[in-house]
Amino acid sequence: MADYVGAIDQGTTSTRFMIFDHEGREVGRHQVEHEQILPQAGWVEHDPLEIWQRTQEVITTAMSRQNLSASDLAAVGITNQRETTVVWNRRTGRPYYNAIVWQDTRTDRIAAALDRDGRGDVIRRKAGLPPATYFSGGKIQWILENVDGVREAAENGDALFGNTDAWVLWNLTGGRDGGLHITDVTNASRTMLMNLETLDWDDELLSFFNIPRQMLPEIRPSSDPNLYGMTKADGPFRGEVALPASLGDQQAATVGQVCFAVGEAKNTYGTGNFLLLNTGNEVVRSKAGLITTVCYKFGDQDPVYALEGSIAVTGSAVQWLRDQLGIIKNASESETLARSVKDNGGVYFVPAFSGLFAPYWQSDARGAIVGLSRFNTAAHLARATLESICYQSKDVVEAAQKDSGVTLDILKVDGGITANDLTMQMQADVLGVPVSRPVVAETTALGAAYAAGLAVKYWNSVEELRAHWHEDRRWTPEWNDNQRAEGYKMWKKAVERTMGWLEV
Ligand code: ADP
Repeated sequence: MADYVGAIDQGTTSTRFMIFDHEGREVGRHQVEHEQILPQAGWVEHDPLEIWQRTQEVITTAMSRQNLSASDLAAVGITNQRETTVVWNRRTGRPYYNAIVWQDTRTDRIAAALDRDGRGDVIRRKAGLPPATYFSGGKIQWILENVDGVREAAENGDALFGNTDAWVLWNLTGGRDGGLHITDVTNASRTMLMNLETLDWDDELLSFFNIPRQMLPEIRPSSDPNLYGMTKADGPFRGEVALPASLGDQQAATVGQVCFAVGEAKNTYGTGNFLLLNTGNEVVRSKAGLITTVCYKFGDQDPVYALEGSIAVTGSAVQWLRDQLGIIKNASESETLARSVKDNGGVYFVPAFSGLFAPYWQSDARGAIVGLSRFNTAAHLARATLESICYQSKDVVEAAQKDSGVTLDILKVDGGITANDLTMQMQADVLGVPVSRPVVAETTALGAAYAAGLAVKYWNSVEELRAHWHEDRRWTPEWNDNQRAEGYKMWKKAVERTMGWLEV
């Protein structure tokens, strides 16, 4: 057996390739950002060709830095930004349009129409999702309706849909020379097109969006001992490597955090925040505004489901302070600036840039900064931004507790923002429970590596993986109950102000 397992993490802001050893320790990595294309208000796109270019670049660089060749890897797993929609031509390998990113809200009318005539409830029941701009179905419909020639090509089988996992996998396995058109159940569960019980594309759901079935990828387990295929020898690995695994990034992080038991949960802090709570083999329907999703499916075992609290804007609000307002030069400066004041000075910021996701699901909401007085400075806004990350997380934690009856006594966290000590302390304060971060903070890539390694028996069981999890840092609550209740009350009031802002 080869010494290592690799993971491609095709994320929203960057793509990375990471290599792990048998103890789950990082051996090497390379990461590059790609362009965020913002053609007009509410639209967010990526160039799929740039994404494939970056994917090749991070693989070749990480492999050559460590002096590794394809034969050193037992397998490679893929994880990806979910929902982001690519449609390309199978003969030319060229995308018909830029990838429409999960945060893009151009499909708000499509989503609103679904909810007006009862189709929304069918989607909730069959797919476990509320109709929203977030998921792929409406994005595919938009491309079919707005880009010349795509509908016809989709009908005759030339136009293929995929999330970025399928796009990367198709290219790695040969592209227009017979590339495999495959996705995994977790990605498919984010389209509004897959039935959560049958784990297959659902004709009624497809009809809601008028999507031809032949443009959709084959749905496979997240970790598949039968292998999806092998990488092409003339590709970035310069040799054949087994490709047996793929999972959406949040599901991968749940696996990387070894949340394999019912009631175990993790919260990932990146561009957005995503809390996933393992609910076992049971499809649990949320009454509190969470969505139901496939957490993972390993080989022919029953699927494991999760309740998810998806928050559209957390780290990207920090990027907004940097890029649009220019009040910080880099993300970590948000902490220094916020620490220069003792509290938020009465300011609450609800960064509803893409509407509000869980638990509110209001596509007509837009962002608001409230409670301003002449006294306030950029520092209060920075503090309010970091607090908004914590309050939005509290909203979904409360919802998860209501739905599951499980009381979280600790919150496992990961992702870029967990480097922000003040935010993690505020998270513990706002929640009133300790917050715990593992040694390997790259849990998304690690989870994809785990899924790949399990498929090829590099690792034999999930128990073996549990032993790799070690706590690096823990934050314990310092606020008293009054402070906590008062802060949350003001947050809720601020959220109210953002709803119904747009008329769609
Ligand atoms: P993704 O996987 O979604 O691309 P990452 O986990 O790499 O995200 O996290 C990147 C996000 O975290 C960015 O939005 C960035 O603004 C934010 N971020 C990174 N470091 C910090 C920090 N020290 N304080 C606050 N936000 C941070």
